[in-house]
Amino acid sequence: MNCETYSAKELFSRIEKLNIGSVKLMEVCGTHTMSIAKSGLRETLPQNITLLSGPGCPVCVTAPEVIDEILSLARRDGVIIATYGDMIKVPGSRFGESLATAKAEGAKVEVVYSPFDALTLAEENPDCEIVFLGVGFETTAPGTARAIVEAKKRNLKNFSVFSMLKKVEPALRALISEDGFEVSGFLCPGHVATVIGADAFSFLASEYKLPCVVGGFEPKEILFAIYRLLLQIESGKPALENAYPNGATDKGNKLACAATDEVFESRDDIWRGLSELSSSGFKIRDGYSCFDAERKFGINYKRTSASSPCRCGDVIRGRISPPECPLFGKACVPENAVGPCMVSSEGACAAWYKYSF
Ligand code: SF4
Repeated sequence: MNCETYSAKELFSRIEKLNIGSVKLMEVCGTHTMSIAKSGLRETLPQNITLLSGPGCPVCVTAPEVIDEILSLARRDGVIIATYGDMIKVPGSRFGESLATAKAEGAKVEVVYSPFDALTLAEENPDCEIVFLGVGFETTAPGTARAIVEAKKRNLKNFSVFSMLKKVEPALRALISEDGFEVSGFLCPGHVATVIGADAFSFLASEYKLPCVVGGFEPKEILFAIYRLLLQIESGKPALENAYPNGATDKGNKLACAATDEVFESRDDIWRGLSELSSSGFKIRDGYSCFDAERKFGINYKRTSASSPCRCGDVIRGRISPPECPLFGKACVPENAVGPCMVSSEGACAAWYKYSF
């Protein structure tokens, strides 16, 4: 049985007939978040089914303290920040400060589409230090690792990576362990599963007895994955299912994982909305330390207790939906965002604002 077995109409009909009561499902992938919002799936499903967004947007889970360090780095003479466009407007802990405002004040910030573009930038600007912002989950770690290996081959002395790369599993474990956690099942991220394998999410069913289905990204693929989750909930038999077999194998991409392992090792990392999580980040190994921006520039960020009216932390943890933030659509809009969830192209607040507001 796969997504093509039923029409979308039939899937909706089958979902309506399930005997499940009220359930909350969580997606943990920004692409799922956007596809759900754009397709109107949330509004189309029966009212007893609530779809929540979890920590699936890499920009959104980057802690404000880390953004502050990036801003300090951007203001140094001779430094060029190379970044994906999503990071440009992400605010730090001080309202109104972002890479965009730093650039307007004279900092050098370049948008790139891959870490390899940053290597080119380094070759074209030998008198500058190019710092690539490595943001993402297990999906983007292999490409970043390959760029670092390539930088070593090219003997580049003016290229480094500020690694903010993170692992999904520790965040899910942290969420599930929180008091009051009420999610009944997880729509697991197809992109991450493509790299580390669908089996990597089996702990959700085996340890936490939570239904979990790896899903594709087309609206009907998501609808099918939701149906499979709801069937598990109805039967009371949680299991890992891969409803994205064309994209993700059970074991993942060994070459991609090997590329990551060659350059990165695990480290404890801080997340927006979550505490410091053990072994949840990717640190550059000693063998590639000359490409580690944190060591090169003596960066050593610590968790601070700065308070903010932004509720992104609660949105990321599925505690509130974006419209429940008092700032949503008022003080916080995409053109003047208070938090990252409103500026990232995969942010839950941006998705709600664009398609449901
Ligand atoms: Fe943060 Fe703005 Fe979303 Fe509120 S609406 S949680 S301030 S991004």
